[in-house]
Amino acid sequence: MKLPIYMDNHATTRLDPRVLEAMMPYLTDAYGNAASRSHSFGWTADQAVETARAQVAKLIGASAREIVFTSGATESDNLAITGAVQAHAGHAHVVTQATEHKAVLDTCAWLEKQGSRVAYLPVDPEGRVSLDDLRRALDDDKPVLVTVLFANNEIGTIQLIDEIGALCRERGVLFHTDAAQAVGKIPVDVNRANIDLLSISGHKIYGPKGIGALYIRRHNPHVELAEQMHGGGHERGMRSGTLNVPGIVGLGAACEIAAAELESEAARLTAMRDRLQAKLLAALDHVRVNGSQQHRLPGNLNMTFEQVDSETLMMGVKEVALSSGSACTSAKIEPSHVLRALGLGEEAAHSSIRFGLGRFNTDEEVDYVADRLVDVVRKLRQLSPEYADLT
Ligand SMILES: *Cc1c(COP(=O)(O)O)cnc(C)c1O
Repeated sequence: MKLPIYMDNHATTRLDPRVLEAMMPYLTDAYGNAASRSHSFGWTADQAVETARAQVAKLIGASAREIVFTSGATESDNLAITGAVQAHAGHAHVVTQATEHKAVLDTCAWLEKQGSRVAYLPVDPEGRVSLDDLRRALDDDKPVLVTVLFANNEIGTIQLIDEIGALCRERGVLFHTDAAQAVGKIPVDVNRANIDLLSISGHKIYGPKGIGALYIRRHNPHVELAEQMHGGGHERGMRSGTLNVPGIVGLGAACEIAAAELESEAARLTAMRDRLQAKLLAALDHVRVNGSQQHRLPGNLNMTFEQVDSETLMMGVKEVALSSGSACTSAKIEPSHVLRALGLGEEAAHSSIRFGLGRFNTDEEVDYVADRLVDVVRKLRQLSPEYADLT
């Protein structure tokens, strides 16, 4: 087993060697501009882009013409939300929820400054939006768009996407979902779930960084978006800029591999995650699993270790890449807004760790990480008078 161990696969994933292999020709000899219509360099690049478009579409049950390539899920979220609101100037209400990624929350905050109204639905202790709350918001706020995360990047909670999509369709409201953590990890079907707009990121699915896609429904309804990038009219005017051909090819290859291996990989990651969780729960008291035990991404485990500061804990296991979910602002460390939305106090939020298991993790690594965590948590607690009071 090699150190350091990477167990932060919600932040980013390692490029799959098969993806790199697919990309290599487009980083070297096949350097054409996909928009060049007058020579074979352009035709070759264009063909590769269209193959990738079909690969991405297939993974989510869409058709190739509904896929627009972007620089990542952040840009896709911006294009979907701002684009939909600006296409409906005049009555621009948006409904979202508390545990969204910053790419959605900050876009919504910006829209509020521009005069839109945004409703932020709360979540239950497992991290899910209530359908009654959503129904009420749809009736009261008459939004043009609902945007709800498919699966959360900190706690892994999977939302009631089919039901939310059905409600939005019934009311004639556009439904966008940030599926950066869901696509390639769990089954995603834009038609079954009545999704109108869906964001994808390459580097969360063992593809390259700086590439992503937005699914934009073309039939029932035909979704209109205001373009956010002005220029040469690439991607049917939806996203100007010379196409990132190697990145697009990599995203396509990553989607093809994910589609083929989704089921077996999900089973393997679930087993590894459950083993890690069971070991930690068995060896330590005053620990809790955050989020939902049933409706959770296969590779996700988020736990609170009472009376242990998560930053100190991570310093104690430097050879393992983990995350606390806290955001570092210039002044201080802010507790995760996701954990706070679940109802965790500030202290519990500062005592939580996210484990993100991925394609390249092994059972051996899981055992090592469990043992080291138990060891360091016990040592830190020995120094804690508050922990002595607990027990
Ligand atoms: C990583 C992530 C993003 C941002 O994706 P980029 O491709 O890095 O811009 C957005 N939403 C979620 C849920 C994510 O996990």
